[in-house]
Amino acid sequence: MPKHPAEPFRIKMVEPIRLTSSEERKQAMIHAGYNLFSVPAKDVYIDLLTDSGTGAMSQAQWASIMVGDESYAGARSFYRLKEVIQDIFGFEFFVPTHQGRAAENILSALMVNKDSYIPSNMHFDTTDANLRARGGRPVNLVNDQAFNISAIVPFKGNMDVDKLRKWILETGPEKIPFGCITITNNAGGGQPVSLENIKAVAAIYHQYNIPFFIDACRYAENCYFIKLREPGYAEKTTKEIAREIFSLADGAWMSSKKDAIVNIGGFLAMRDEGLYQKVCNELILREGFPTYGGLAGRDLEALATGLYEGLNEDYLDYRLKQTAYFADKIREIGIPIIEPAGGHAIYLDAGTLLPQIPQKEFPGQALTAAIYLEGGIRGVEIGSVMFAHKDPETGEIIYPKLELVRLALPRRVYTQSHLDYVADILQEIWEKRASFHGYCITYAPELLRHFTARFEPL
Ligand SMILES: *Cc1c(COP(=O)(O)O)cnc(C)c1O
Repeated sequence: MPKHPAEPFRIKMVEPIRLTSSEERKQAMIHAGYNLFSVPAKDVYIDLLTDSGTGAMSQAQWASIMVGDESYAGARSFYRLKEVIQDIFGFEFFVPTHQGRAAENILSALMVNKDSYIPSNMHFDTTDANLRARGGRPVNLVNDQAFNISAIVPFKGNMDVDKLRKWILETGPEKIPFGCITITNNAGGGQPVSLENIKAVAAIYHQYNIPFFIDACRYAENCYFIKLREPGYAEKTTKEIAREIFSLADGAWMSSKKDAIVNIGGFLAMRDEGLYQKVCNELILREGFPTYGGLAGRDLEALATGLYEGLNEDYLDYRLKQTAYFADKIREIGIPIIEPAGGHAIYLDAGTLLPQIPQKEFPGQALTAAIYLEGGIRGVEIGSVMFAHKDPETGEIIYPKLELVRLALPRRVYTQSHLDYVADILQEIWEKRASFHGYCITYAPELLRHFTARFEPL
């Protein structure tokens, strides 16, 4: 049993949290239509909904906030961020965006139309929705092992390069405006991608003149996994690994709310100056002038500082060990999880844990609700609520392969005793697992329905 790592920081500001009563939680769920996104955060005790924007900023980041330059055009903070992005990622051009999906929107607006197909290992929900919103077809070509929950594979986020090559030839390279890879693979369990795989994917895309973009939300965790697991990288720094990864790509976008440990922010970076000019025009229409892109100058400063902190190896070592500790506690209970533990979250296999609930009755939703009602803990369903969709040609409902509940770990926020409390609640869930029922949807919008859908217990 691995020990919880000692934190490479100490706490000098606290935020009170409170465990509500079981009756209060029942009422909160009725009000929320059983959707945890609609439960007020004050009614949540341990919030593992997401690791996005929920990290604790450091004293250096808060100090950066105070020196933000709020000039509309050409702020000092923009130039500092530009230097940092060039230093880590090596891209000549970039624009700040208010978060990851804004970058996805801009890229999709410029490059995707109704004849487009866009491959990746797995697209995350916002990427998938932004591509579909422009009429495009996102295509997931992750290796088959990714769907084998218990397989212990070092780089389970890898793309299947044979599938990719075949698929490009079948689809026609002219219908593929760009190709992606997501590091780490959030939708597939926060699993890393190897440098060897990124190299192979880049070579295939480039062979067919398809620009290669990386969804870089958790690139730093991915770099540290490469350092730990890929032969030849143990002696390299995470920054050197990052430089090597991004040297293979034509562009990247990042929700900096992840590995840059900021509460808001993102960027879209690229090498092609012509594309950059179009991106600037689209950015001005939707986000803001290209030197602030929907962020305040202070946000750009916190982001510049946070990008380096997110790559710090003492921090990453603690980060991945905390996730591994949490995984171990849950595995010990007997609850199946995606193996091995990924970087930022543990994914409970709700489909296997609750075999009495069919996919159309949302086992992931049922488990998410049960965990909240039992212990005031908020996770997120990553299954049929999030990903089931109608095939545009046949009208048939296509269900995802896995029904998961993600418990994401905010960065530098919760301690070992918080995680032990979550494990105690999961133990109770495990004991009562046969008693849980499914849900039906009473309201859902067409895209990204998991954020606002309402449910009723069956
Ligand atoms: C969070 C995330 C996004 C979207 O970023 P937002 O900042 O939430 O808009 C895109 N891709 C991946 C892999 C993510 O984890």
